[in-house]
Amino acid sequence: MPPLNEAIPAIVRALGGRPAAPPERDSRFEAAIAFAASGGLASGRGDRIAAALDGAGLLEPDALADAPLEEVVDALRDARIEANPKAVRLLQRIAAWYRAHRDDLEAEIPAGSGPEAARRDELAAVNGVGRSTADAVALHVFGAATYPVDRASYRILVRHGWIDPTVDYDEASHLLTSAAESDPAILARISDGFADLGRRFCKPSGPRCEPCPLRIVLPDGGPVDVG
Ligand code: SF4
Repeated sequence: MPPLNEAIPAIVRALGGRPAAPPERDSRFEAAIAFAASGGLASGRGDRIAAALDGAGLLEPDALADAPLEEVVDALRDARIEANPKAVRLLQRIAAWYRAHRDDLEAEIPAGSGPEAARRDELAAVNGVGRSTADAVALHVFGAATYPVDRASYRILVRHGWIDPTVDYDEASHLLTSAAESDPAILARISDGFADLGRRFCKPSGPRCEPCPLRIVLPDGGPVDVG
């Protein structure tokens, strides 16, 4: 089995090279809310929540940040989305964060030039935002060279022997970022691809390697036990 940095080209080929086209979004704010609402995953739930907020006139930083909690909960409920008040408050805090940094967040900056990492750190400092969600928003919305280590990525890295189960979030994120030579397009492709494989083949209950495209980079003895 090749080390991770040498396996990156084979991984990207196995994942299909180009990512599926992301859903059309009108603004970075909408994309940030959709990713945050889905816990950093490119899932349909985040997009449904963003659409429901949009329909209620709440998909705008001022409107969402300042709306009474019940108004937001009701808007989601009207769209048949159950969201607990804690999750709604988190979206409102993210809206307030976005409002406070709006000019900076909407400025065009060359990918990989540095400020995206500062945005990630600021977002991660918002109460209730996990590091993985902050990294996901930074990578997929702002093009930062960082990797959001979700549970699927962690399982895949361990089962392929690329990390030890004791490795912490920062080490795993740094390993992938460095192996992908800080290329945001490759990092985004791997992030989307690993999340998809984690749902379809590399499940918490056990791996299904035979039909999985990543079997070509398995260790000789097969997947490592996650423990
Ligand atoms: S299912 Fe098997 S081949 Fe696929 S990612 Fe998991 S360990 Fe690798």
